[in-house]
Amino acid sequence: MGSHASHRRSDRVIAIDGPAASGKSSVARELARRLGFIYVNSGGFYRAIAWYLLRKNIPPEEDDLISAALDAAALTGNVQDNESRILVDDVDPGEHLRDDRVNETVSRVSRFPRVRKIVSQKLHDCADGHDVVIEGRDIGSVVFPDTPYKFYIHASPEVRLKRRAAQGERDEIAMRDHDDVSRAVSPLVIAADAYVIDTSHVTIEQVVNEISARLGQIGLPIRDLRITNRALGE
Ligand code: C5P
Repeated sequence: MGSHASHRRSDRVIAIDGPAASGKSSVARELARRLGFIYVNSGGFYRAIAWYLLRKNIPPEEDDLISAALDAAALTGNVQDNESRILVDDVDPGEHLRDDRVNETVSRVSRFPRVRKIVSQKLHDCADGHDVVIEGRDIGSVVFPDTPYKFYIHASPEVRLKRRAAQGERDEIAMRDHDDVSRAVSPLVIAADAYVIDTSHVTIEQVVNEISARLGQIGLPIRDLRITNRALGE
């Protein structure tokens, strides 16, 4: 009794949801680095599946063909440099995840319940026995509804468009957002208990600082963080 806070747990999930180009990836990666948590980009899992289906010439509308292809594929996850990766039939799609064609089809693929179930399971595997920061669309609302650490980050459409253009990517973010918000299964929503941050006019560091402060307030024991991880003499 009494010293439960001294037990270091290692299956905590920090959920960071939000629309495309809202700054999620930069914020989630930096937060994970500071905390010593594993960074998990759930969009990368959906992108890997979209990439695989494109490679197999399977149209993103064909539910049955998609299911059959996924039955035949070996999807495995692993962690490298504190970040999760997904391999499809032992191939790391790596740099192809942000190809124009993947950008174009990923939202159409991610609306299928079968696809969502597979990714959700992989995300739970990632969190099993690890502290993770997971970014996505439905992490706080559907995949890990019980985590107390939920954030929703967004930015104005103009700012988000500029960010994508600066990355040199062709990405119809308005169209993806529309698909992601309007799909039947686990659409992009703000979880009722999420802490909302507008990143339009602030730096990544400011957002990470705000999240860290909030995590401290809501009970992620600050002394568990890698930077201040010293026993307090109890
Ligand atoms: O985060 P990112 O923009 O890379 O995600 C690519 C796509 O993957 C999203 O547009 C969305 O369709 C899908 N996605 C999702 N649920 C998540 C993460 C991504 O449906 N948790």
